[in-house]
Amino acid sequence: MEIGQLLSSRTRYMSASEIRELLRWATVDVISFGGGMPDPSTFPVEDIAKIVSYVLEAYPHKALQYGPTEGIYELRQEIAKFSETRGIKAQAENIIITVGSQEALELLGRVFINPGDVVITENPTYLAALQAWRVYEPRLVGIPMDENGMAVEILEERVKQLKAEGARIKFIYTIPTAQNPTGLTMSQDRRKYLLEVAERYDLLVVEDDPYSYFLFEPIQVSPIKALDKTDRVIYLSTASKIFAPGLRLGWVIASEEVVRWFNLAKQSLNLNTSNLVQYIFLEGLRRNVVLKNLPNVRDLYKRKRDAMLAALETYMPHGVSWTRPSGGMFIWVTAPPQIDTKELLKVAVTQYKVAFVPGHGFFVDQSVRNAMRLNFTYPTFEQINEGIRRLALALRGA
Ligand code: PMP
Repeated sequence: MEIGQLLSSRTRYMSASEIRELLRWATVDVISFGGGMPDPSTFPVEDIAKIVSYVLEAYPHKALQYGPTEGIYELRQEIAKFSETRGIKAQAENIIITVGSQEALELLGRVFINPGDVVITENPTYLAALQAWRVYEPRLVGIPMDENGMAVEILEERVKQLKAEGARIKFIYTIPTAQNPTGLTMSQDRRKYLLEVAERYDLLVVEDDPYSYFLFEPIQVSPIKALDKTDRVIYLSTASKIFAPGLRLGWVIASEEVVRWFNLAKQSLNLNTSNLVQYIFLEGLRRNVVLKNLPNVRDLYKRKRDAMLAALETYMPHGVSWTRPSGGMFIWVTAPPQIDTKELLKVAVTQYKVAFVPGHGFFVDQSVRNAMRLNFTYPTFEQINEGIRRLALALRGA
């Protein structure tokens, strides 16, 4: 059958496969800095095992049943409490539970984006957010970053221009804390400035925040949502990096109106997030498993970041530079301008047995070709050192 002829026009935007194809060459002896996976030793396995049997004893019928689309009320209440410790004031009614933050990104596309609508992002930004939205055909506008995060002065200029052109700006997407892919954190002043711009031009802000729970440095920043007095920030977070990504549990905190629209959009997508999973995370919060786990996560990832930074310092040739992430899971490396990291990946995987994600896909226009993202949380300390040594050899040979 000619499946190709049957595909929707939307399907042509689904181009994740390119990197998957490259990484498919990765055999067991390849050290991968490619994925975005937590270190499995951070999963609170014993606690989760106890919680699962408790949940199945205490409320088996609810846990194994369909549930409300917006999520279990008690979990939404518990997340409201959890968020309050981070300065975010919310009621259960402001919260919708999603299948990881990734579903929230999809819901944003479904609810807000018409072809040609403008979505503003940091440039580079989270590749899978761009992938989720491309099918809705937005005009993606990227704002450059510096060590203090998105360059908000440039954002303001662009917003002014776009408004003058009559563009329909749907939202500004930011990952302000320990950004994926750069690891950089937006300063508190910038956060306030960003919100001022949003207020001045009456724009929605989407704050994607999987990483602020484990910053490696004592940086004083609050979620932008905590500064939001006009209900224009849609805040996304997730249990993936602080509990276990396999559960696929995330949440959105927003105005009740946005929650209602997300609820409608989610109904046809998957009816509800797994009840069993929601009860597991509810108990995880109630028993303090999440907060208890955080210092271990922070300590391990800080040591792994430091190991990767030290290896980069030791092995990388002149002309290669990298970020010093304040948290999160990634270091962003810039190679000399003549190097195309997609080409480099082929050689790195087949000859040097090391993998990474080429930077192209993180840019709204794929314009930068000499960058790459390295994950430091999943590989072991030995793999970090050996993998960076190999990568440096591949770069010297390129
Ligand atoms: N947003 C960002 C910035 C991420 O880095 C990730 C995961 N790597 C996600 C969203 C999606 O996470 P999940 O669906 O596991 O919650």
